[in-house]
Amino acid sequence: MQTYTVETFEEWRGIARQLLRSRVSPGDVCFHEQSSQGSLFDAAQEEQSVAAAEATTVISVPPKFLNLARVVACHRDPDRFQLLYRLLWRLTTLDSRLLEVHTDDDVYQVRRMEKAVRRDIHKMHAFVRFRKVISEEGEQFIAWHRPDHRIVRLAVPFFARRFPAMNWAILTPDESVVWNQTELVYGPGCSQRDAPAPDELEDLWRTYYGAIFNPARIKLKAMVREMPLRHWKTLPETEIIQELLDDAPRRVAEMIARQEGHARSAADHLPAELTWDALRDAAVICRGCDLYRDATQTVFGEGPTDARIVLVGEQPGDSEDIAGRPFVGPAGDVLNDALAQAGLNRAEIYVTNAVKHFKFERSETRRLHQKPSAREASACRPWIEAELKLIKPDILVCLGATAAQSLIAPGFSITRQRGEFLPSDWCGSTIATYHPSAILRSPTPAQRQATLSLLVDDLVRVRARLNEITHGTVS
Ligand code: SF4
Repeated sequence: MQTYTVETFEEWRGIARQLLRSRVSPGDVCFHEQSSQGSLFDAAQEEQSVAAAEATTVISVPPKFLNLARVVACHRDPDRFQLLYRLLWRLTTLDSRLLEVHTDDDVYQVRRMEKAVRRDIHKMHAFVRFRKVISEEGEQFIAWHRPDHRIVRLAVPFFARRFPAMNWAILTPDESVVWNQTELVYGPGCSQRDAPAPDELEDLWRTYYGAIFNPARIKLKAMVREMPLRHWKTLPETEIIQELLDDAPRRVAEMIARQEGHARSAADHLPAELTWDALRDAAVICRGCDLYRDATQTVFGEGPTDARIVLVGEQPGDSEDIAGRPFVGPAGDVLNDALAQAGLNRAEIYVTNAVKHFKFERSETRRLHQKPSAREASACRPWIEAELKLIKPDILVCLGATAAQSLIAPGFSITRQRGEFLPSDWCGSTIATYHPSAILRSPTPAQRQATLSLLVDDLVRVRARLNEITHGTVS
């Protein structure tokens, strides 16, 4: 057994590359985070043995995996490097498309870690509050933050881009970083005692938070999850939360009075003239229901506007909300896999969702999908109706119950009625099947595989139906 101590992605990558070249399988290597058992440099014997292989073996590693590994390496799970090497081994020796198999347990674990790290980066971007310090060197802004994972080096380039003309420093227990308007300089970790005292910038934060606080959407548990208590000491706005909560009933009553008698929907935002450009521009600023408030952006459909097949999912997920594109996260990978297995080309298909904003609830580490309500699906319906009116597809595929209930019938059941072609208001061949997320949510690998097979079967039916329409044997 070869044993290595690894702290960073760069260290792991160097070792992993050597191990792969000398064909060391994951079962014969052990990665430790902190070593009482030797270090990378103690493993000189193994390095000598791999060096001979290095000169002759060329290993190709997908950039997608390296980007993923760079993120996952920041997770605090002590087994992350072992998991990464196992995945790397399988990717390079067994299945180069392994990362697209979201039903695989290793892929599932690594994606879960990736999400946790990305969420932590997002929180650092949201919760860092700088305090002004005047010293002999001039003005400097200093913040203290305690991330869940070792994300400092991934998170801080954001602050360098956002505040390029300020001298600032961020202190964390893992490491500190200083921006001198030219470069990021990293140093050892610090305690919160090293952070400066409050300053007048905090009044600005309190004013801003008071202005964006929505009294109709108070969920105390969710607030604590989103703004974990350990961050509260560094967040000046938390001082006014009680005051805002006390005033919430009065503000809610005012909001209800203002909106009485008016049922909002996307119809209020549709452009006068139905063209693609006008439609997309209008959807960006839709306020047809409250889902726009917490989501990052509207996620409109994408694909050829003369596509013969339209796929409609439920709503964007976490990755889609960030990317602004439908089906680009794990569910998108499952969909791509299913389409490929069914012999369909995604590039020829228009892909969209019944609801255009991501609905979620925050947990401590991630944003958890929430099913849109019937009211929200109905408010958003004008967008999908407009897309279908412009495209006029030969086949409409509803992925999951929300899309099927919105476009086929309100009581539609995926379990009982999937896989059948039915006429709908939008085209003569409308079919419903499982949403790819249902596969990701299946509790066991066997169940994931079984649901994936049903999705692929239904997509094979779609391909056959398209051929029939092409050859005029069905209209
Ligand atoms: S979910 Fe639909 S109706 Fe609601 S704001 Fe977003 S685009 Fe508008």
